[in-house]
Amino acid sequence: MNKPIHTASFWKPFVDRLLRWYRQHGRHDLPFRQTRDPYQRWLAEVLLQQTRIEQGLKYWHACLKAFPTIEALVRAGRERLFQVCAGIGYYRRLSLFFDAASQVVKQGTQFPTTYEEWRALPGVGNYMAAILAATLHDEPYLPLDGNVRRVAARLLAYSKNVYTRRAEKEFEQLGKLFFQFARPSQIVEAFIDLGALVCRPRNAQCRVCPLMNACQAHRQGIQAQLPVRRTISRQKVQLHLAFCHDEQRFLVVQYREDELWAGLWGLPFIEELPSRQGRPWMRVRFDHLLTHRHVIFDVQWLQMPSAILESLTRAMRTKVQRAVQLVNLRPKYSRDADLPGMPAWMHRVLAYLSQAKDFHALFRVG
Ligand code: SF4
Repeated sequence: MNKPIHTASFWKPFVDRLLRWYRQHGRHDLPFRQTRDPYQRWLAEVLLQQTRIEQGLKYWHACLKAFPTIEALVRAGRERLFQVCAGIGYYRRLSLFFDAASQVVKQGTQFPTTYEEWRALPGVGNYMAAILAATLHDEPYLPLDGNVRRVAARLLAYSKNVYTRRAEKEFEQLGKLFFQFARPSQIVEAFIDLGALVCRPRNAQCRVCPLMNACQAHRQGIQAQLPVRRTISRQKVQLHLAFCHDEQRFLVVQYREDELWAGLWGLPFIEELPSRQGRPWMRVRFDHLLTHRHVIFDVQWLQMPSAILESLTRAMRTKVQRAVQLVNLRPKYSRDADLPGMPAWMHRVLAYLSQAKDFHALFRVG
């Protein structure tokens, strides 16, 4: 027999309370919530996932200014998208978004209208398909981001890892009960906002929560112990990079499809330089944390006369078959629009260089 918390009749009054709370306290002023344009909503999901909301919105506004429509985005090209989003940190996701946008435009700018159609696009996973299908088309899908998993786990006092298929089935089941009484777009946004504003990771505000009397974790006093998550163990990798320069320029390459930061530009890896073209003059190490990796960059300065830098550039183009550019050195570093699209760590390296005390001596050819 079903437990009461798994029946629709149990939840009916709480759905009403949740929606009342949402009408009064929900984040209706979020700019992407004020449009039903699928391009703008989709772009928001791409840019705001796993990012602080202010940070994501900054990129969202910049993208809409540079590419007001999906056609304008595709016309402008992937490189320009990377440039506008310089420093965002997840370029693979952006690159897949660009592929998917190109596909939509190629098909006459017909946006998907169902979960399955969204899910079929490159880079659109379960979460993104669910949130777009629910908020744009009122399809009954609960997008399981961190906020929603936390609220659901606490409501059900779900004490196992919330990142398993079994947990997802339980939470989806809960969503289906809610969807019987209101439009999925409202339920989903109310759930997300409840997680962000009330049922916070630390310090859940149970006393003002519209679902308090239904919440099993609150009843048992275990809300602070939930949700149970998988632990991420980061793989440690060390990358050796070369900063090859003459008096005025330095060399950057475009990373290939099979590499980290595919499609972006940055310093070449040392192993692929045809030979040691200069003497290592200075070394610097940077630590950089990605979701699944702890990367240690070991950067070496290789100073060389212009003729050698140019022959190295030619050699990399032909022998290593790289897209290569020589970029002007900047005594005072800034993220100029004419820099090719680079990952965040690359900007850190360049900023470090420009602040080095002996910067001018560093670039003086001996
Ligand atoms: S009662 Fe507390 S733990 Fe339960 S959903 Fe509300 S805020 Fe979260």
